[in-house]
This record gives sequence, C-alpha cells and structure tokens, in this order.
Amino acid sequence: MPTDYYEVLGVEPGASTAEIKRAYRRLARKYHPDVNNGDPAAEQKFKQISEAYAVLSDPQKRRQYDRGGLHGDWFSGGMPDIFEIFEQAFGGSPFVRTQQRRRGRDIQAEVTISLEEVLTGTSQPLKYRRIGHCPHCDGSGREPGTGTRRCPTCNGTGQIRQQQRTFMGIMTTVMVCPDCGGQGEVAEQLCQICAGQGVAEVDEEVEISIPAGIADRQELVLRGAGDAVSQGHSGDLYVVVRVQPHELFERKGRDLHMNLTISFIQAALGATMTIPTLDGEVELQIPPGTQPGTALRLVKCGVVDMDSPQRGDLIVHIQVAVPKHLTARQRELLQEFAAEERNFQ
Ligand SMILES: [Zn+2]
Ligand SMILES: [Zn+2]
Repeated sequence: MPTDYYEVLGVEPGASTAEIKRAYRRLARKYHPDVNNGDPAAEQKFKQISEAYAVLSDPQKRRQYDRGGLHGDWFSGGMPDIFEIFEQAFGGSPFVRTQQRRRGRDIQAEVTISLEEVLTGTSQPLKYRRIGHCPHCDGSGREPGTGTRRCPTCNGTGQIRQQQRTFMGIMTTVMVCPDCGGQGEVAEQLCQICAGQGVAEVDEEVEISIPAGIADRQELVLRGAGDAVSQGHSGDLYVVVRVQPHELFERKGRDLHMNLTISFIQAALGATMTIPTLDGEVELQIPPGTQPGTALRLVKCGVVDMDSPQRGDLIVHIQVAVPKHLTARQRELLQEFAAEERNFQ
C-alpha cells in the first residue's frame, strides 16, 4: 500500500506549498536525529516526512503523485539526501554539530592555616605553576609583530563539512575547523614560545580567601585557575586547606578540648586556675570535690564552623595528679587525714 504523504505531514490533500513547508518544518524539528539521540523510531519518522516533503514540495512530482503515478519506490534510483532537504527547508541547518570543546587539567594545591585563623578567616597568597596564557604572544599563538593569513584547512570559513553515507542517505556534519578554531585565519608565523598553542607554563600567584570556620582538609575551588588548553576551557584549581594542629587544643567541630592537670589538694579543696584560650587567658573555677575526668565548660571559647557563626565551647578535661614523693611532714599530715576519715565514717 503506497504511503499517504499528506497524512504523513498531517495536511489536507489540497494544502498549499506554504502549508506543506510549515508542516514539514514543524515535524522535522521534532524528529531530527540530532534532537532524538539517534532513536531509530524517530529516524524512521524523519525519513518518512522528508520523503513526503521532497515529493509534495516539488510541483511536478506532486502532480504525478496525485494522479497515482508515483509509488513508494520513486527514489530507487538514489535516495535523496534528507539532510540536504532539511537544510534547504530551513535555509541552513539549525542543528550544526560542533566539536566537543576541550578542557584543561585541574590542579591541586595546599595551604596551611592556624587554629586562630579558623576563628577569624584569613587570606593567603598561593604561588603555583600552571599552563596558562602564553605571555610571549598573549595567547594569540602568533609571533608578535607578524600577521595572519587565511586558514588553508577550511579556506577561511572556520568550518569543515563532512559528508557521510548512512542508511538514511548522505549525512552532512559541520565541525569547527581544528586548525584555526573557527577563526578562519591562522598565524603567518607561530609564536616561538608556545609553537602557536597560545598556552605555556607560567608561574601564578593568587590570593586565597579562606572563610572563618573552615574544617581541616576542606577544599576550596577556584574555577578556571587550573591548566589552560588552546581552544577550550581552563581546568580548576583545588586548594586543600590544612589546619595546623594546636599544641594545647584539639578541635571537634565548633568545640575545643584541652586537658588540665590539677593536684589532688586542688581537686578536693577547689581552686581558681588560669586557662589559656584563643582569646587570651581566663580564670576557671575548680569546684571543691572535683573528680578526675570531670569536664568543665568555658562557654563560647571555642571556634566557629561553616554552618554557624556561633562560637562553640572550650571543654577542659580535669586530670588529678597524685604526688609520688612525700616529705615526712606531708606523710604525717596525710596519715592524720586518713585517721580523721575513719572517724568520720
Ligand atoms: Zn605564545
Ligand atoms: Zn580553519
């Protein structure tokens, strides 16, 4: 059974050429293989509407078809290039296949900050080496003082067209010219340093802004500060922030922890101790009868984290030292103390 080309395009048999073209363009946009990821059903449909349009848009072929003199295999002498039909109907293809852009390598670097700087945030200069803009030619790839000439590869158009024979016909692929990057012009004389690549190894110095509350080993990303490539995007710079271990404090989230050793007398009688904090020294009251392992909390003497500007606490873990050597008098007093304790029980 011959295909009804009017039905394929969804138009009336009396439709005008303009209506036929409109219908074809609407369907072609929908079923073009480039927007359907090569779906075979869509390709089949695209082939059908292209065929229908090729016949109905040609007055002579349409008359022949209307009289019933044109059957399914009218194109047996050679399948028309359906992509050419498509390009003609649109006046140039809206689906130009471009080359995948290249991307430069990412770079890793490390900076170290102090615990004090975690509290305030800081900024630090970072020196590193990367592939960047060639300083000799300023990225143009052209030896300074020389001009350009028409690209011989694409003949100045900036594009390369490739035709490929597929089961649907001849497929035209348009690519950005790899030799001139679509510019249509190339250097008369290549840069001596980068050999026309426009990129070369350079030393960089950037100021790394480190937010308050950052965690040890947290990464900061500077987009585009990694290696550059010619005709593509630069990679990224990943900066790992290391927080130097503190000699007194151990950080757990927003809280700081420290150990404090007091004598058993101070533990029993209570005492006032001078404690170092990130903000300077403060006094800590040890209540009478403090047991070893007690944790005392100095509120808001900790640090901040990325989630909250509220400071955590400084937690002081009490250790009690028992004297190893006693004088005769101390021994006597402690024996008296022991006797008193027996009486008390
Ligand atoms: Zn250069
Ligand atoms: Zn070119």
